[in-house]
Amino acid sequence: MRSRPLIVPVFLPHAGCPHRCLFCNQSAVTGGREGLPTPAGLRDTVAGFLKRCRRRRSPTQIAFFGGNFLGVPEADIQNLLAAAAGFVRSGAVAGIRFSTRPDTVTARSLALIDAYPVHTVELGAQSMCAEVLAQAQRGHSAADTLCACRMLKERGYAVGLQLMVGLPGDNEERLIKTGRRVVGLRPDFVRIYPTLVLAGSPLAAHYRRGDYAPLPLETAVGLTLKLYRLFRAHGIPVIRMGLQASADISPGASVLAGPHHPAFGHLVQCAAFHEAVRSALGPAGRLRGELSLRVHPNSIPRMRGLGNATVGALQREYGFRQVEVCADSTLAEQQIGVGGNAPVAAW
Ligand code: SF4
Repeated sequence: MRSRPLIVPVFLPHAGCPHRCLFCNQSAVTGGREGLPTPAGLRDTVAGFLKRCRRRRSPTQIAFFGGNFLGVPEADIQNLLAAAAGFVRSGAVAGIRFSTRPDTVTARSLALIDAYPVHTVELGAQSMCAEVLAQAQRGHSAADTLCACRMLKERGYAVGLQLMVGLPGDNEERLIKTGRRVVGLRPDFVRIYPTLVLAGSPLAAHYRRGDYAPLPLETAVGLTLKLYRLFRAHGIPVIRMGLQASADISPGASVLAGPHHPAFGHLVQCAAFHEAVRSALGPAGRLRGELSLRVHPNSIPRMRGLGNATVGALQREYGFRQVEVCADSTLAEQQIGVGGNAPVAAW
């Protein structure tokens, strides 16, 4: 299995953004810092990070996040990439990645970055539905994402797509359509974020007026699971579900409302295990007795659920006296042995 790169994060809050998208407030996410680092500042940040993480086992990449990288003035793009490229030339890091809007990927912008060791480009696709993109005030179309993806892949970049669940105007049907269109683009990976109401975002005003109701956590988890299963079924890695837990992003601080949970991705996988056991057991009845579940050792927390929630729910739903979860290293991580039956798959 290829190991995930270790990321040296360089946040560029709102740098290069043509306007503020409805759901976004990068300053809230990054604790109020805005603007571009100087090349010298970037070198210091990266060198400091590398010093702190001397014993690295995975390849390291410098990642520019939190803005619209290819929307930054061209001279700044070149200065930042040149400073980052020095670390690649010295062998200290393996490559560079950045996130950008789909409509900034053009022949001109790709020519600009061609000379630098950029490995991965992440596109903020968010949705492939025109109505949802319009309501989110994205200012780009699904066709822009399609075109950007194609151009990047033709030039050999690894492409990641960022999607959102629970945007205004979205629903399950539109979300699954988005998922299917994304499958057709064959990205190298996706990230899925639930829509949160961030303080200071345009969405916060809609929420306060009562024009937007965020998804309840359970609904957001369920919808994300549908996308997760779709992508896994097509061999597309989902490298993150939910925002990174940090001191900057906590309910009451910068999140006014919405399905925020520090272990959102874990909740999605727990829901997948719970659903798979339910389908294997059939309609809930009063089975009584004991239920024995076997899973790969790494999947025991996924099967038990957060705080044993899934074990408790199965006991309540089916009337089991006891639900036992045992480790079985002969199973794959997504498999579950339910009683003495052949294993079922959670995704
Ligand atoms: S979503 Fe991206 S392009 Fe839109 S305001 Fe936020 S960082 Fe800028």
